[in-house]
Amino acid sequence: MQLQTFEELKLSGNLPTPAGVGMRILQLTRTEDFSAEEMGDAIRTDPSLTGRILKLANSASHSGLEPATTVSEAIMRLGSRTVRDLALAFSLVSERKAGTCKAFDYELYWTRSLARAVAAQTLYRVRQIGKPEEAYICGLLSEIGLLALASVYSEPYSELLCNEAGADMQLLVTVEREQFNIDHSEVGQCMLEDWGLPERFAEAIGAFTRDRRPRADITEIKDLTTTLRFATLIAEACVTDESTPAREFVRIGDGLEHLRDVLGLDDSGFQRFCDTCANEWAAWGESLDIPAERIRFSHVFNAIALAREVLERAGESVSPSAGGPAPVKAYLCPLRNPNGLPAERPSDAAAAVPALAGSAAVSVIPPTEERFNVLAIDDDPVSLRLLVRHMRNDGYQVEMARGGKEGLKAALRTTPDILVVDQEMPDIDGLEVVRSLRRTEAGASMFILLLTGNESEDMLVRAFDAGVDDFIAKPFIPRVMSARIKGGIRLAKLQRKTEFDKQTIMRQVAELGRLTRKLRAASLTDSLTELPNRRYAMKRLESEWAASQRSGRGVSVVMIDIDHFKSVNDTYGHDMGDFVLKETAAVLKGALREEDEVCRLGGEEFLVICRNTSTDDCCRVAARIRKAVEEHQIQQPAFDRGHVTISLGFAGSDLKFSSIAEMLKAADEAVYAAKNGGRNQARRYDAMDCVSDAGAPPVSRPRAA
Ligand code: GH3
Ligand code: MG
Ligand code: MG
Ligand code: MG
Repeated sequence: MQLQTFEELKLSGNLPTPAGVGMRILQLTRTEDFSAEEMGDAIRTDPSLTGRILKLANSASHSGLEPATTVSEAIMRLGSRTVRDLALAFSLVSERKAGTCKAFDYELYWTRSLARAVAAQTLYRVRQIGKPEEAYICGLLSEIGLLALASVYSEPYSELLCNEAGADMQLLVTVEREQFNIDHSEVGQCMLEDWGLPERFAEAIGAFTRDRRPRADITEIKDLTTTLRFATLIAEACVTDESTPAREFVRIGDGLEHLRDVLGLDDSGFQRFCDTCANEWAAWGESLDIPAERIRFSHVFNAIALAREVLERAGESVSPSAGGPAPVKAYLCPLRNPNGLPAERPSDAAAAVPALAGSAAVSVIPPTEERFNVLAIDDDPVSLRLLVRHMRNDGYQVEMARGGKEGLKAALRTTPDILVVDQEMPDIDGLEVVRSLRRTEAGASMFILLLTGNESEDMLVRAFDAGVDDFIAKPFIPRVMSARIKGGIRLAKLQRKTEFDKQTIMRQVAELGRLTRKLRAASLTDSLTELPNRRYAMKRLESEWAASQRSGRGVSVVMIDIDHFKSVNDTYGHDMGDFVLKETAAVLKGALREEDEVCRLGGEEFLVICRNTSTDDCCRVAARIRKAVEEHQIQQPAFDRGHVTISLGFAGSDLKFSSIAEMLKAADEAVYAAKNGGRNQARRYDAMDCVSDAGAPPVSRPRAA
């Protein structure tokens, strides 16, 4: 199977998707302003999900507070976005605990992912660099692309994991791209985006899984990426056992040492930190029903020391640069603190430790309010200052400009949501500013409030004619001003929503177009051989037939059937059969002229369409193809027959068929004759002679009945 992109992966229906409640939540929260109550209701229908969310809401970072006992409290504490994302992640875990990809260890996958999740969460908590729950979600889902590819391409992916590509992440990515046109890193990113998780998550897991720096130079993303790398080390340490090679222990040990330095902890402090991760892992494992042993890090550190000794005695270098796998280097880049500078060691080594005990409460960042910008224009400095001060007190972001000319420029530069403009100004008056702005695209949608001392009927009519939305008497009464601006904000909000909806629709239309094109291409392609399929063949034949009727130049077809193909399957198995089919398809394609086209009709049957070709000329084509297949050695040592042969039958429109169907039937009958004649030969319909390799047209004989 060779699906090309994420959309096509989705169409396969095998991508991991959140189960039950998760799916419902995904639908409920597709838009930005989803209702937290509805989401809460959905979560409450699943008791185990409710329990998990409460558990996180009551975890160490919020331990200063009374325990949350209801979903609504959890939502208040964690924020509705975070709860939504957690619900998705949890319902995903319950969905895929086993699968059909033989070489993929589903259990170990979740075990490791969970260890990474709790380690990332603990790191965030200790370093106080963001929301620990976000780190948890990222840790849990950062390698979801692996699970996805294993689910969609279970068989080929299993094969791929078994060969050397499975041992090295970077090589794996390359091979995935070659084989599936997409790698697990991209798939993971697409899935996160598809579920509406924050963009920075996708960015961070992209950088993490590709072992690269994040593309965007944003502290949050860099923090997440680095945290994922360190958390992976802890996860790897958590899943070590007697079978872990000494080299691997040393690699993990080196990475952990670096983490200890970055955290500024002494050995015992760091061991406590690691044990906290391990304990949380075990507790979470129990609640999510994922295997997680209760391990002690003192044992892990002993094993690391022992491994170092073993390697030293064996004379092997144990420096971290000595040929470890590529990702090691990446694990060693320093964590960054919130202002983007490399982390310094805290002077008090114990500083981070109390957080482990749970005494440091991390504040929950409230969802960001929409910001609206206001521009105030007035020629009088005193009145301008009053105006600005009042609006800033009301919480708006306010810019100011003195006079009409400056104001007009500022309005075009900053495109505010709300414009408050004085009417009487010496350079350009307020109405003139409004008229000029309304002629521009940016100015057309601003909410404009005119400040005027003249409230005559005539003035008001002129003001609305010029394009103002509302007016207010000068000097303004503060409460009235606030009320009018609020009215403007309501309109601005509507406008934004309309704009957002419009863009969403446009995106969806574009997406749909893309999808339709891909679907169309996919529906005309045979997935095994990548040749055009029967549907395509029939469409193509129809158009060639019509063209040949018009031009009188003729179109011919060669029907091909592999000889004794059933016995290939029976002797070597179906996989080998598929392999032979693919190779034969490639040979057929290679043996053709530019203008001929070979399609797979189904099973081991193919059709070549030769445009502008008479039956005589087609004879040469058929002979050449037969020879090419016979001479081709199947590139698979286990296939000790070496090669396959084909039987061919051909016919052209110059034989005066009344329809395409009749011509195809004729070619089919010729194949039948070739089979009866001993196979590995080409037959011309009206002659039914065996065609020689030289491709000389046979002596004409009466048409077969
Ligand atoms: P003959 O020379 O008379 O054509 O013999 P044959 O064995 O090729 O004849 P038949 O048409 O009976 O067998 C075709 C076989 O092709 C049967 C079917 O199992 C196998 N086949 C059809 N499609 C596929 C496929 O996609 N993959 C594999 N491996 N086998 C296929
Ligand atoms: Mg057949
Ligand atoms: Mg057959
Ligand atoms: Mg056959």
